[in-house]
Amino acid sequence: MRRILIINTGGTFSSVKSEGGLTPGLGEHDILAELKTVAKDCELKYEDFCSLDSANILPEHWAGLAKRIEAASREYSGIVVIHGTDTMAYTASMLSFMLWGVPVPVVITGSQLSISHPVADAMENCRAAIHMANSRCPGVFVAFNRKIMLGVRASKVRTMSFDAFDSINYPPVAEINAFGMRIQKELIPRRAAVRFQADTSYSDKVMVVKPVPGTPPEIFDVLADLGCRGIVVEAFGLGGLPFGENDLCEAVHRTVKRGVAVAIGSQCRYDGSSLEVYETGKRALEAGAMEMYDMTTEAAVTKLMWLLGKDLTMEELREKFRENLVNEVSSRDFAE
Ligand code: ASP
Repeated sequence: MRRILIINTGGTFSSVKSEGGLTPGLGEHDILAELKTVAKDCELKYEDFCSLDSANILPEHWAGLAKRIEAASREYSGIVVIHGTDTMAYTASMLSFMLWGVPVPVVITGSQLSISHPVADAMENCRAAIHMANSRCPGVFVAFNRKIMLGVRASKVRTMSFDAFDSINYPPVAEINAFGMRIQKELIPRRAAVRFQADTSYSDKVMVVKPVPGTPPEIFDVLADLGCRGIVVEAFGLGGLPFGENDLCEAVHRTVKRGVAVAIGSQCRYDGSSLEVYETGKRALEAGAMEMYDMTTEAAVTKLMWLLGKDLTMEELREKFRENLVNEVSSRDFAE
């Protein structure tokens, strides 16, 4: 019988009420017996990695998880990671990079209600996650509300609905309906033919800037002064930044000259950026910014963190950021 490892990191899935508010608290005893009822054709093993509200997850947890998954991928046919929904997309994106070429399915899931709640979505999400983990389709995925998404494309878009995640600018790789779970294998990145090894180096010196009309350009200088090595900018519309008063294009220019990698995408969640269309975007490009195209913010942040952990020159980093590594980016130029 195929063996699936369940790794619990916390989140609402395993939460209990406490005086301070909902907090992760359930463990193997409470969770495993429930999960066994939805995993009829595989053997489940369970382990706790941490027990955190996902707001408390740090980049060092990503590296630790990736190492654990690397080791487990030699023993198990698939791995399910239970995770809080709030930062799940960051973890899923970073694991997609760190575990590039992983030989088994790694499926991240969680829920909007604790597994102890009588009408929770926890079991349904886990059922999908376990089924995907048992599918022999390698890669990093998010399972939520009967959808299987590439980890690097998932984003939390709703705070209360059970349909909390969307696959951004990319179709879900599977949906569960009256036909069961049909996996569209052509949507899953091909596994490299090299021997798999997790690549867990990263830099945590990456921040996001979301300008509003009137944002002072000095925000970029402050971030560079604080030691930021990468800045992801959620710019306006197709990716425009002001160049008149409050000249953010010039701010990008001097920040890039200081050796900081600046990536520009859109404040709009869907469709992606196209910096070549407006002067506000072209000037940002001329200032030395890299373009995010249809990457999610979570993917851009973690891709930048991951690339900054390598010993790359700025030119090499720019080249790698442009490259599609794990199907995190598909559009090159919307203006064509
Ligand atoms: N605050 C929780 C967490 O992200 C929310 C959830 O799991 O749904 O850990």
